[in-house]
Amino acid sequence: MKIANGYDLIEFAQKNNLMLPAFNTTNLEMTKAIVLGLNDAHLPGMIQISSNNLHLSNPQIIADLVRAFMKGTDTPIGLHLDHGKSFEDVKACVDAGFTSIMVDASDQDFEGNIAEVKRTVEYCHFHNVLVEAELGAIMGKEDDMVNEADCKTDPAMVKEFVERSGCDILAVSIGNVHGLDATPKVDLELLKQIAEVCPVPLVLHGGSGIPFEQVKAMKQYNMIKVNYGSDLRQAYIRTFGEAYEAKHTEANLYGLSMKAVENVRKTACDLVQIINGLK
Ligand SMILES: [Zn+2]
Repeated sequence: MKIANGYDLIEFAQKNNLMLPAFNTTNLEMTKAIVLGLNDAHLPGMIQISSNNLHLSNPQIIADLVRAFMKGTDTPIGLHLDHGKSFEDVKACVDAGFTSIMVDASDQDFEGNIAEVKRTVEYCHFHNVLVEAELGAIMGKEDDMVNEADCKTDPAMVKEFVERSGCDILAVSIGNVHGLDATPKVDLELLKQIAEVCPVPLVLHGGSGIPFEQVKAMKQYNMIKVNYGSDLRQAYIRTFGEAYEAKHTEANLYGLSMKAVENVRKTACDLVQIINGLK
């Protein structure tokens, strides 16, 4: 199957009453595992990679991997830039064939954020690429960048932000955090207030660590995309860590890499089913 277009994927999810998990990749093994896991579950989702993680390879390599691993699959999967930090990254990913883009200018003030998203929207929409923006800052580790600001999304600013920026989906800060070192405290009442005024579907960052019942309850508030990074990364790293603990001379890189793919594949397959109430 071809990489699914971001707009088509959102429409498909809405029609079928599904939430899309967006699983973070870093390398070849993670990418393969995510494609296989979603395909095992026969449920749609996104593979995403952050600007930071792209330093290990580049957008073209990741897009080529996704295309190669999607050969022979039959479930819709999109390729998304997570936390796009620069316009150069956005352009490189669109050029490589990414089908949706997040522009993260949430560290700027309201007007600066709108201006940066608007510039990205103009470029991406010309190429039929969906754009995610973020209003309010999400605490915790955003890959290697620590964002200390505890700034929840203000419902009063949502409508104007979406209309003026032109973004297609909106990431919200409602007590969710990045990584597993901080504890999320999700405010569903705030999410409800945001959903009431937001003209576009919503995105949850930091899905790992949030109780599944809360994640599932968000669907009624127009939550369409849920990001999962840490759960998959842990499944990957644990494979190597346990092997090393068991035998300090362990050197079977191929065997452990295959095992890591299977562990991440199963985690992705489980997560997409659980958030959609199918497991
Ligand atoms: Zn995030």
